[in-house]
Amino acid sequence: MGEFELIRTYFQPLAERSGQDQLLLGPGDDCAIQRTPPGRDLVFSVDTLVEGVHFPRHYPPEYLGWRALAVAVSDLAAMGASPVCYTLALTLPDASPEWLHGFSDSLARASECFGIALAGGDTTRGPLTITIQVHGTVEAGCGLYRAGAKADDLVCVSGPLGAAGAALDYLDAATLSSSQLAIMSRYHFPQPRLTLGQQMVGRASAAIDISDGLLADLGHILSASGVGARIEVGKIPVMNELLELRGPSARELALGAGDDYELCLTIPPAIFAALESPTAEGLTVIGTITSQPGLQLEGAVTGRVGGYDHFEDSP
Ligand code: ADP
Ligand code: MG
Repeated sequence: MGEFELIRTYFQPLAERSGQDQLLLGPGDDCAIQRTPPGRDLVFSVDTLVEGVHFPRHYPPEYLGWRALAVAVSDLAAMGASPVCYTLALTLPDASPEWLHGFSDSLARASECFGIALAGGDTTRGPLTITIQVHGTVEAGCGLYRAGAKADDLVCVSGPLGAAGAALDYLDAATLSSSQLAIMSRYHFPQPRLTLGQQMVGRASAAIDISDGLLADLGHILSASGVGARIEVGKIPVMNELLELRGPSARELALGAGDDYELCLTIPPAIFAALESPTAEGLTVIGTITSQPGLQLEGAVTGRVGGYDHFEDSP
């Protein structure tokens, strides 16, 4: 199969199904054209996933399409942006129809679910690598930055942490218990918190998506904002299945492990109090921003948490 037939067969249909009116021209020309409505800012970001580095070798294409797009779209969620379109630069060792079918199907499901249209891309031969550039928009001047957290703001997360990190241990398992299956789906099918991110525009003082682990990513908010935080470890949401499988070390995973793609947000207390239903929005308060720099962890943490030695554990 030639390059153009491959694009026509597997990727062109994703663009045609999108219904995104801001994408004026999709794949097939020298460039795509996006129209950004007046009063909106264009928000964009690129992510590369390399086989054997960002996902395991022989990772099923049925998961890879979803995962690659979800990881990229999660950055839009963290900025409070609404997705519009994306480009896909695909480097493939060969044009296996089975692989392409599984991958493009999985990508199509993710595109539809996140409301984002394939605008174009590039197709080359080489070691399996997937680069996705996502475009979204946000009300002009209202994007959520990592900088902006202030003393006394509440530190919130959008969902349970640690499960995707634990899933790495079961990727090669031949059979899985129901708890292990629940954990695996957190790794295979991350759910970018788009609605929450958009709801937090004008409300949250800072936001980030948790790709590298809570401590590392909250650390980025703290250093960008020039503040510290006190976190109550016992308040960090953890899936029951993870507690079942890992006992107390589930909390260490929740602090240190990545790949969950939940949001970490800081919200001024008065704004938080005015939210209709924080739990319905999926928010759990896990701590408070402090004017004193550094991160204090309150509550039992056994063992080592990641390798983040610039953070101090309080007794
Ligand atoms: P050019 O040579 O002008 O850069 P290409 O030959 O790379 O164009 O691509 C031809 C068209 O196919 C372009 O519109 C491009 O966006 C689209 N395309 C190429 N690869 C992909 C892909 N993996 N997914 C979607 N569209 C693609
Ligand atoms: Mg050209």
